[in-house]
Amino acid sequence: MNGTLIDITEPKREQQRKNDFIAMVSHELKTPLASMKLYLQLLQQHAGQKQDPVVSGTLVKAVRQVKKMIGMINSFLNVSRLEAGKMRIDKQVFDIRELLAEIEEETSTTVTSHPVIYSSVAVKVNADREKISQVVHNLISNATKYSAARSPIAINCHYEEGYALVSVTDRGIGVNDEHRERLFEQYYRVEADRGESVSGFGIGLYLSAEIISRHDGTIWVESEPGRGSTFFFKIPALGG
Ligand code: ADP
Repeated sequence: MNGTLIDITEPKREQQRKNDFIAMVSHELKTPLASMKLYLQLLQQHAGQKQDPVVSGTLVKAVRQVKKMIGMINSFLNVSRLEAGKMRIDKQVFDIRELLAEIEEETSTTVTSHPVIYSSVAVKVNADREKISQVVHNLISNATKYSAARSPIAINCHYEEGYALVSVTDRGIGVNDEHRERLFEQYYRVEADRGESVSGFGIGLYLSAEIISRHDGTIWVESEPGRGSTFFFKIPALGG
């Protein structure tokens, strides 16, 4: 009996220690990274004036990588906030089509590996704009990570029975049934068994699922292994 109890609580404690450590490291990395981004941007302005294409090209890449790191750090901090019950959802009324147009503009410079095709109708929601944007960014980032370069990624949004339904489709490696349910768990990664080396920590979908559930929504995946996946989420809409 005792043995059973220990079996259940020890992995939890282990997870807690891992989370605490990650939260501490992320917090410490945040400030120097923010400074580094500023310095790089300063250099970028300077390089722009000197019109040296090698320097400015390299700086663009450096800024992109620093932004990626800041994104990862923010995800970790969000996980620890979530664990502590402190993730805040700040709702406002906005149109998902406008949010997607903004994301399209951003990804047109940050996602250069794949064509990303957007289509959306106007759907108003009362939701946390930044967090929903983070979910879409996560799904797009995964679509690029788990599909071959230059294969298309499609982002869609439409109104369905009281919900805004958003989907991100790729033609990548897909997910088979045994993993499908578990993808949204913290630190769950399929790559761990496959021994492939796509970088990641297994928290993007966990965070996305939490965000969507706090909006009384649902997130799920449909996939044909080897052919691609579509990640869907829906959140209550205000009108079609
Ligand atoms: P990460 O990508 O950092 O590992 P995520 O939480 O975003 O973490 O995803 C969890 C796991 O789900 C990934 O490790 C990957 O195995 C699988 N996955 C996520 N998106 C896709 C996708 N578009 N196609 C195939 N597998 C995916």
